[in-house]
Amino acid sequence: MPVIIIGGGPAGAATALQLLRQGYECIILEASAAPIRKPGETIPPQAYSLFKKSGLETLLQHPAHLTCHGNRFVWGSQTPTDKSFFANTVAQGWHLSREIFETQLANHVIQCGGQYLHGCSMTTIKYMNDNWSVSYADAQKEIQTITASFIVDATGRKSRVARQMGIQRKVMDKLAGVTACVTLPQHIQQFTYLEAVADGWWYAAPLSAQQLVLSFMTDTDLIPEQLRSAKALLDAATTTTLIASVIHDSTPTTTNVTVASAATGYLSQRTGQQWLAVGDAAFSYDPISSYGITSALDGGYYAGHAIAEYLKGDADALTAYDWAISTAFSTYMKMLIGQYNLEKRWSNSPFWSRRN
Ligand SMILES: Cc1cc2nc3c(=O)[nH]c(=O)nc-3n(C[C@H](O)[C@H](O)[C@H](O)COP(=O)(O)OP(=O)(O)OC[C@H]3O[C@@H](n4cnc5c(N)ncnc54)[C@H](O)[C@@H]3O)c2cc1C
Repeated sequence: MPVIIIGGGPAGAATALQLLRQGYECIILEASAAPIRKPGETIPPQAYSLFKKSGLETLLQHPAHLTCHGNRFVWGSQTPTDKSFFANTVAQGWHLSREIFETQLANHVIQCGGQYLHGCSMTTIKYMNDNWSVSYADAQKEIQTITASFIVDATGRKSRVARQMGIQRKVMDKLAGVTACVTLPQHIQQFTYLEAVADGWWYAAPLSAQQLVLSFMTDTDLIPEQLRSAKALLDAATTTTLIASVIHDSTPTTTNVTVASAATGYLSQRTGQQWLAVGDAAFSYDPISSYGITSALDGGYYAGHAIAEYLKGDADALTAYDWAISTAFSTYMKMLIGQYNLEKRWSNSPFWSRRN
């Protein structure tokens, strides 16, 4: 009987790859009909060892994934500062093309013998006769049902599987990203650009030689009413210093902005009888950490091993997995508080007073 993984992002794919390597049958249900460009593209140099451990390092060689030489930021003072990756053991990070990356992961799962079902959205789950019965709407909108020995919630920040079981998701802040793509007249230096402002912070990163993703990160209740178009986002960015210099003379590539939750959050219970949650579904991270994709892949690596051990009869395997991902989250929380505390210039503004 297969393991069913619901959600085919980095966490779901990484979980499947470990299970397939250990000879388990795996089916991924992925709601989107084809890989899409999700928000979030920057991964740090430290991620390389994880890619290597998971046998995924060759994916980074695709020409669509750009080298990231470091971070350039205005944070805590008006002076732009560079943190180059040059002296790191791995001397670069990456700006991933998310669409290509998700395609690569799906293809890898298929090559390793997994079934990756695009356009298939889980609708209901039922635990019966010691197994899970999973119903989903297929690409033709027909309802299908399969039986699984184990199910994985890899549905991202919505934690759709666990929430159907009645498990609560705790959200620790209201952070959201208002994002658009812009085209530049000149080549851009391959850095991640960050700038703190009174109501949040700006993020810009290259998507190609002359394309940039531009996000304003703030709390949902603080998003300015006028930030409804890519043009308005670009106009707002001109009031900054570093980001304004990066986007100088750029034009919006698309008309609209997307607004996505980027809140730190977690499921109050992440494992149970023949199920676990992984990636953003279990713990979601503030993008300032650049840890979301790495954590999803790392969590998937450990989830795959834990499920294999559990199915062989080790009842403690899921507890050990939960301990590992909870410890990583505690470490992240300390780092997050430290990062926001570096910025003291607007300690009375709603955004910063909620964090300092
Ligand atoms: C604005 C913003 C900026 C970010 N920047 C960065 C960054 O720079 N670096 C970084 O590392 N991370 C960043 N992140 C976070 C990163 O994108 C996520 O952490 C990462 O995608 C998590 O992977 P995942 O597989 O857990 O979830 P997801 O990638 O969200 O995948 C979940 C999948 O589940 C599918 N799904 C949902 N419901 C169902 C269902 N019912 N049936 C079947 N399938 C379903 C969805 O279609 C989706 O493909 C950012 C996030 C945001 C919002």
